[in-house]
Amino acid sequence: MTEGLFPRAFIKREQANLGDQWPEFEAAHKLPAPVSIRMNPAKSKIAPAVHRVPWSTYGFYLESRPSFTMDPTFHGGRYYVQEASSMFLEQALAQLTDSTTSLTVLDLCAAPGGKSTHLLSLIGKDSLLVSNEVIQSRTAILSENIQKWGHSNVVVTNNDPKDFQRLPGFFDVIAIDAPCSGEGLFRKDPNALKGWSEEVVSLCSRRQRRILNDIWPALKTGGLVIYSTCTYSSEENEENLRWLSGQYQVEPLTLKVKSEWGVHTINDESMSGYRFFPHRVRGEGFFLSAFRKLDQQPEHGLYSKTRLQEPGKKITDEVQQWVLKPEEKSFILHNDQVRLLPKKRMPELQAIVKNLRIILAGTAIATIKHEKLIPKHAFALSVDINRDAFQVIALDHDLAIDYLRKGVLTLNLSKRGFALVTFDDVALGWVNVLENRINNLYPSDWRIRMS
Ligand code: SAM
Repeated sequence: MTEGLFPRAFIKREQANLGDQWPEFEAAHKLPAPVSIRMNPAKSKIAPAVHRVPWSTYGFYLESRPSFTMDPTFHGGRYYVQEASSMFLEQALAQLTDSTTSLTVLDLCAAPGGKSTHLLSLIGKDSLLVSNEVIQSRTAILSENIQKWGHSNVVVTNNDPKDFQRLPGFFDVIAIDAPCSGEGLFRKDPNALKGWSEEVVSLCSRRQRRILNDIWPALKTGGLVIYSTCTYSSEENEENLRWLSGQYQVEPLTLKVKSEWGVHTINDESMSGYRFFPHRVRGEGFFLSAFRKLDQQPEHGLYSKTRLQEPGKKITDEVQQWVLKPEEKSFILHNDQVRLLPKKRMPELQAIVKNLRIILAGTAIATIKHEKLIPKHAFALSVDINRDAFQVIALDHDLAIDYLRKGVLTLNLSKRGFALVTFDDVALGWVNVLENRINNLYPSDWRIRMS
């Protein structure tokens, strides 16, 4: 049953929590949600002329919501549309890890990919991200967003948290952006409000404990867990983390937070938590807390008999011309596809491939057909592509939209073969220039359907 904007039980609880801030909290829900994007530093030259999200290097507010669909650079992965509060993940990673070391990072609840794409911009190129989503149907959008971001040091998996127990002590960092009751999205998403009930809150809380418990063995001794939700209920936040401290040996970690950010800090001996309220920050509701694991955890030995197959010399020589810094990469052959992976992380990749359900690993470069290489779409979007190896066709806005609609392109080109299509220096995909026509190779599933 609802009263005004919110369900009655929610009002009762939050009025008690917020006290005299309640009217401000309620009033904030009558205002439009701020619009923010996070730039891909590997694909953006100029920061847009808008305001910075204070806790994120790459986050910016926009004054209004443009049609992202009609911006070709959005499809090319120049930025990700992300709610500002959740960009606070950056502070946990930046303040609690050493950016000069290579990390093995798990994003356990990853779809549609907001935190994973952010993590890819924050970790070094020798670090490895496993971006996992348990719900299979959600891995398609996750894979799409990961491919648009363009990094090869990432594996997308489709596993239940307990499957990661096959990799004990494997990860340096585990981000758990847990499925939650979504109270922090009440302003942005009316469905979050419709689906809310006290039963949902306690169901989510029980599920979150199960996730924390199941994933715990996969974290190294001394490893970092970054737990977040987009909800306010303490049952899903503080209470779960106090429960975690009771179950395991953990060190609660604190973050430096500037007072002008408006973040509410919760501190006691068992945990530190950071809560974002829409009446105090320019963003939606969010919660984050970080812990270090102190329990002694035996580690996965990394030895695996599974050897990933490499392509023959002729193919390897050819693809080496296609990528920047080929000496830092490994080329792998899988089902007639050549993939690009970070050379230094092959032992971990072999262990991952052996133990998890892989949706995508690294960047697909090309399919081998009759000994010829047909470039893959993901490779066009890759930050590792050597553009000098290809014909590059710079399109204007209208032609770029035609291309993204998978329309017919009529261009006067003399050079035949595969060519990279760009807009404003952002690669969008491939075309194949034939004698009498141009084949548009944009993936059908990704094409713009809006009229
Ligand atoms: N991190 C994502 C981002 O930034 O784009 C959002 C993640 S969303 C808050 C939570 C995710 O957890 C959903 O994709 C959902 O499918 C997944 N999930 C649902 N039940 C789960 C479970 N039992 N274990 C792990 N993940 C689960």
